[in-house]
Amino acid sequence: MPELPEVEVTRMSFADRIAGAAILAVRIGKPLRWPLGCDTAQLVGQTVHGVRRRGKYLLLDLDHGVLLIHLGMSGRLVFGLNLPEAGVHDHFELTTNRGLLRLRDPRRFGAVVFVPSQDSALATKLLGGLGVEPLSSAFDACTFHRQLKTRQVAIKQVLLAGDIVVGVGNIYASEALFMAGIRPTISARRLSLARVRRLHGAIREVLSRAIERGGSTLRDFSSAAGEDGHFQLEAMVYGREGLECRVCDARIKSLRQGQRSTFFCPRCQKG
Ligand SMILES: [Zn+2]
Repeated sequence: MPELPEVEVTRMSFADRIAGAAILAVRIGKPLRWPLGCDTAQLVGQTVHGVRRRGKYLLLDLDHGVLLIHLGMSGRLVFGLNLPEAGVHDHFELTTNRGLLRLRDPRRFGAVVFVPSQDSALATKLLGGLGVEPLSSAFDACTFHRQLKTRQVAIKQVLLAGDIVVGVGNIYASEALFMAGIRPTISARRLSLARVRRLHGAIREVLSRAIERGGSTLRDFSSAAGEDGHFQLEAMVYGREGLECRVCDARIKSLRQGQRSTFFCPRCQKG
């Protein structure tokens, strides 16, 4: 599933190229997670002014409104000239005078939603509950600690929920907790300020590093320019069950938390 780094890598791979492009045509395939929310003709003739990201949403700023794109479980965007004919999994296409933006989404948990503005009711419903951006200065260790004090569930679950800090999904939550030496199952409220400071730093470091490495390509992620990510090659715990820890020589373990696999080192992450 694309997480924050993959969405940011996707954004960076086409934002400059599509900025200023005029929308010439829109094609919709099979239904995605949510309906588009406007007539496709309403988008034609508008200009794409830029691409921002909020959590795992991409926001395409148009003349009148914003197009929200979510990659869901298996979505990926491609942007380019002379793309091959649309395939069976290509469910949204924006033809512009700078190239074609195409969403390929085999599982169709992704979505493209038009909102008249970022303050509209629908935009607020989708974006309003998102936590702070982990790479922004608004993500502050002391506030994070205060918020974690109110949560009785496992720290990994709090990270995945995304309502305190957004975009830390399964891979990067496992990796950040390893880097901070924190067991994924510990109750969030039990973490001391010193440990929360380490986790705060680890989240930022892991996500920044993943963006630098082009994200993680586990099954089929690649950027909108068709480039695979390489972060998975340097993962410390994610996907490494039974292998030796890269720091000590203990074997990496995995467990299920909220129907997701969590990976950790029983020696480096004692409590
Ligand atoms: Zn270890």
